[in-house]
Amino acid sequence: MDCLFCKIIAGAIPSSKIHEDALCYAFADIHPQAPTHVLIVPRKHIASLAEATPEDLTLLGHLQATAAALARQHNLARGYRTVINTGDDGGQTVHHLHVHLLGGRALHWPPG
Ligand code: AMP
Ligand code: ZN
Repeated sequence: MDCLFCKIIAGAIPSSKIHEDALCYAFADIHPQAPTHVLIVPRKHIASLAEATPEDLTLLGHLQATAAALARQHNLARGYRTVINTGDDGGQTVHHLHVHLLGGRALHWPPG
């Protein structure tokens, strides 16, 4: 298994756990881009959103719903952003699908 996030989910590489359930694992981003920066990662290895299939629909919804629940827990009532970077132009660097939850400051748009 040559995937950083699979290794983090398996506990082979340490992480700052924020949440886990049957479908996903969430932990603090090592290079936070906002006061709250959480990565929500499916336990299932899916290389990117482009590789997700119709059988992943429930999982994709669960990742977003989990982000909203974690945003409530982190008191992000002023707002927050969920982001999925896909492919080279999308800025994806880890090829295991993940949702970024960013909040705790005003975020710029467009993101650049
Ligand atoms: P992306 O660029 O969308 O693929 O996001 C990958 C994210 O993983 C980046 O925000 C990195 O800071 C983060 N990251 C990389 N390695 C680790 C790690 N060992 N622990 C936590 N976050 C990491
Ligand atoms: Zn993986």
